[in-house]
Amino acid sequence: MTKSPVSVEGGGLVPPFEDINLFSSDAALQEALTREGGGHAQKSLVAFGLVCGSADVMERARTAEDYPPRLRIFDAQGRRIDRVEHHPAYHELLEMSCGERLQCEVWAEGGDTASAQGRQVARAAGLYLASQVNVGHCLPLCMTHAAAPTIAMQPELAPWLSKLVSHGYDARAAALVDKRAVLIGVSNQEKNAGADRSATVTRAEPAGEPDGRRYILNGHKWFLSAPMSDAFLMLAQAPGGLSCFLVPRFRDDGEANGIHLQRLKDTLGVRASACAEVELIESDGWLIGEEGEGETVLSETQMQLRLDLSVVSAGAMRRALAQAIHHAENRVVSGKLLIEHPLMSQVLADLALDVEAALALALRLARSFDRAEDSRAAAWRRLMTPVTKYWVCKIAPAILAETIECVGGNAYVEELPLARIYRDVVALSLWEGTGNELALEVLHILQREPEAAEIVMEELGKAVGDDAYLEAAHARIAAILCEPRRLDLRARSLVEGLAVLAAGTILRAHTPAAVSDGFIATRMGSVTRQTYGQELDWADTAAILRRASPTS
Ligand SMILES: Cc1cc2nc3c(=O)[nH]c(=O)nc-3n(C[C@H](O)[C@H](O)[C@H](O)COP(=O)(O)OP(=O)(O)OC[C@H]3O[C@@H](n4cnc5c(N)ncnc54)[C@H](O)[C@@H]3O)c2cc1C
Repeated sequence: MTKSPVSVEGGGLVPPFEDINLFSSDAALQEALTREGGGHAQKSLVAFGLVCGSADVMERARTAEDYPPRLRIFDAQGRRIDRVEHHPAYHELLEMSCGERLQCEVWAEGGDTASAQGRQVARAAGLYLASQVNVGHCLPLCMTHAAAPTIAMQPELAPWLSKLVSHGYDARAAALVDKRAVLIGVSNQEKNAGADRSATVTRAEPAGEPDGRRYILNGHKWFLSAPMSDAFLMLAQAPGGLSCFLVPRFRDDGEANGIHLQRLKDTLGVRASACAEVELIESDGWLIGEEGEGETVLSETQMQLRLDLSVVSAGAMRRALAQAIHHAENRVVSGKLLIEHPLMSQVLADLALDVEAALALALRLARSFDRAEDSRAAAWRRLMTPVTKYWVCKIAPAILAETIECVGGNAYVEELPLARIYRDVVALSLWEGTGNELALEVLHILQREPEAAEIVMEELGKAVGDDAYLEAAHARIAAILCEPRRLDLRARSLVEGLAVLAAGTILRAHTPAAVSDGFIATRMGSVTRQTYGQELDWADTAAILRRASPTS
């Protein structure tokens, strides 16, 4: 064997980013958790952070992605089985996160007052960690969690709820009665019915039984994520209008319930998890609420999903940032560590500001879900759910692209998770509210529930204190709100302005000056920037990076 005259590995290659406790190494997360009322979960999150950051789990995440799900419509004899086969690594990820009760913790009974009040926040912190492992496996967790309040509206569906909140993960394809735990999907998207649900063509006819709750559904769903879930919330046109149904995958006798998988989508991202097109043929569906109230019945599920997608997006950004900082702390370029090069440290610090802002907004929103009976929290939840989802999900692709550049060519290769996360985050902004949909939702809230905006603006007004930039940002939003006739075209400015102002006030009140000064001056100051790594020459970027570093 000939030996290379030079070491092909060179010296000082960047060590793998693994076996890092994703919770204990994240100062911003620990502080936000306590600040927003989830401190009781600290201990279990330390343990979960260790698991999520372990080399073993990261390897499983990579494997689940490398061996995407496969569709098997028929068995060897030609019988329909409508099954999606996942690599065992995918099931192991779901076992891990269901074991942490991310699909059901909020709805489980018991716990002391403090833990009951901070459940959404504590669970959101857990989801933030799980999303750093793999975004795809989070989707069934999010949908199941979000489906619970809608299922709870219909007392006859209590058996579903009790299996939903039971511990663990049960991947078996079986009727409810034979399952230990269940996962629920949410599928409303049809070929022509996206933002406009009134275009739904799937029909639901009453089965004509005395209790009147069973309907027969026929139609089609164009995006159905996690098709191996045990049941799905779906909208369909009943005689009385658009209505919400729970459609199980199997009937009580174990027979398939007419959900025919047609093909799996060849999606840009979230490839570990499947997304199917399905035809419904004489499927049983259980009406939730009343005929014609479908969108209202589903509204809580939609709110919960929007919160979750913000959390997952923030987690995905944190994972990418941590990888980029880790790289810069270990990679030597031109005789010194990359992080010691001022241009690089400015870029990373700039990214860190948005990542911390995204986390702050997401956990602040989770707290408003915990305290929704309080009118001020309810107003925050109402207005800031679409606002947070808009901003947090929209900034993610740009952050991912920049972190890829920070790490360089290796990040464009699939062994590192950045290329995968880059693809994944685009789905999060599409799902359950694209940008315009969310902006229009905010306009709708201004028209129908103007008091929500008044309360939020009042709260933000108090929080700006004597910060001139925050004060000016608040005044700009107030001016937009004062001109209702031009709101249509200014809805996106309004939504983005609200998100950045809210994030700025949280950072100003709770984070070190280096972070809050940097964020507020560059996001609300007079300078216009299009890309990261600018206008922070005056800032304490070293302090920002010490805080954001996964190893400090
Ligand atoms: C990976 C993935 C998984 C998914 N899984 C699911 C799932 O499990 N269940 C499910 O139900 N859906 C799922 N979806 C679908 C997703 O929710 C839809 O893509 C989304 O609702 C947008 O609907 P649409 O594609 O029909 O776009 P459209 O509604 O046609 O919108 C297209 C564009 O027009 C804009 N627009 C719409 N109305 C207006 C208006 N009045 N004014 C200005 N602009 C407007 C929108 O903002 C958007 O930018 C998934 C999507 C992806 C990418």
